[in-house]
Amino acid sequence: MLNKRIVLTWFERAAESMAANKDELGILDAAIGDADHGINMDRGFNKLRSELPKMEDLSLGEMLKRAGMVLLSSIGGASGPLYGALFLKGAITVGDANELDAAAFMTFLATGVAGLVERGRTEENEKTMYDVWAPVLREYKKNLDAGMGLEEILKACVDAAETGMKATIPMLALKGRASYLGERSIGHQDPGATSSYYLITALYESVR
Ligand code: ADP
Ligand code: MG
Ligand code: MG
Repeated sequence: MLNKRIVLTWFERAAESMAANKDELGILDAAIGDADHGINMDRGFNKLRSELPKMEDLSLGEMLKRAGMVLLSSIGGASGPLYGALFLKGAITVGDANELDAAAFMTFLATGVAGLVERGRTEENEKTMYDVWAPVLREYKKNLDAGMGLEEILKACVDAAETGMKATIPMLALKGRASYLGERSIGHQDPGATSSYYLITALYESVR
């Protein structure tokens, strides 16, 4: 079961991870973008972390919605509205529930990722964060259908996220700033795919 305590831990760990990996995300973005992805993610998740004490009394759905609003307004860049859409759209599916089982969290994720795709007008293999979220969703669904529990499912999703992240290296960027580089975008790992991997890892570590 995913509950408010786990979600608060998730955001806390994600903030720690974005801070710890700020330089790496910046270096990845320097190669195919404008070098600010680490700064953007650290700013957004640091802001979210500072809001956590105020969020404790919210319902789970309100908490996820609030996170979406904070990330949308404080990450900035192209990635802020995308992470914002993920949480804002996903939160709508939560309703009044204060606990989500593995199936309900699948609905949150699938709807959130659909929001990200709508916002980014992206498809797979365009060298974006969606190249992590798409295989993660598939892995999630496969393992849910096989009857696995949330922790086991998320463990498998971390592996799928890592594979998806590394698979962006040979891709030609077709969306966002990296697409301006054309062929020169090939051979570099996508920064947004990398921060998405860290976000999924933080979630798994919070459920464990
Ligand atoms: P900016 O490019 O505005 O500086 P960031 O550096 O914070 O913003 O984020 C860049 C990341 O955003 C990329 O690595 C990519 O994963 C993601 N991204 C950019 N455009 C899109 C899009 N249209 N769809 C999905 N993801 C995108
Ligand atoms: Mg950037
Ligand atoms: Mg920028």
